Amino acid sequence: MLVDSHCHLDFDEFRDRLPEVLAAMAAAGVTHALCISVTLTEFPRVLALAEAHENLFATVGVHPDYPDAGVVSPEELARLAQHPKILAIGETGLDYYRLTGDLEWQRDRFRAHIRAARACGKPLVVHTRSAAEDTLRIMREEGAAAVGGVMHCFTETLEVARAAVDLNFLISFSGIVTFRSAGSLREVAKAIPLDRILVETDSPYLAPVPHRGRTNEPAFVRFVAAEVAQLRGIETDLLARATTSNFARLFRVNNLTQ
Ligand SMILES: [Zn+2]
Ligand SMILES: [Zn+2]
Repeated sequence: MLVDSHCHLDFDEFRDRLPEVLAAMAAAGVTHALCISVTLTEFPRVLALAEAHENLFATVGVHPDYPDAGVVSPEELARLAQHPKILAIGETGLDYYRLTGDLEWQRDRFRAHIRAARACGKPLVVHTRSAAEDTLRIMREEGAAAVGGVMHCFTETLEVARAAVDLNFLISFSGIVTFRSAGSLREVAKAIPLDRILVETDSPYLAPVPHRGRTNEPAFVRFVAAEVAQLRGIETDLLARATTSNFARLFRVNNLTQ
């Protein structure tokens, strides 16, 4: 069994084909998935997925790539996170790749999410791109280690991964790890302790080999798991069991194996 720790099943790509996507997921042995919020406007759709499907969970947060989403208050996030199927706050973080200019609002928004996570006692789903140094600094300054979380779709260096692990965070690998061009990332996937790893699709984006370039979906997380297992020289089964129990431990869900 596998869990997709990060997907966007509320996006338009899935609007007309959710039943078939969920069936493919089950057929692939992917028993659960975490549906990630990117704006509070879209959040009700994400929550509705988790409410309608026993094996789907949700998060609440505003992604750093949405400059027009406005100011997010820690109080509102913490309040929305009270729902039992909301496992985490996010996705949040910093993205200096997609957006440039004065990004102080992004850092403020990230801080608000960390404060919300600390207020409600739920972990964080962190997105970081071309901004590792500031991401780690703000995590330290805001005491993110108190709640922990996951560095999702990890693409940074081993040094950054180790710093995140030291801050009580897990490292989640996406389909990028299957790309032959991702040499240094593949080294990170070998080096991080097994009890610190998650796998994800980030679907509809970043489909792994052999589906690269197509619409990604949770079923394809098995290709990510197989690749990470192969890199580490272990059975995919072992990697699947470890990442599933890591997911259960981080997000405090204890009925995954039923
Ligand atoms: Zn992301
Ligand atoms: Zn995402």
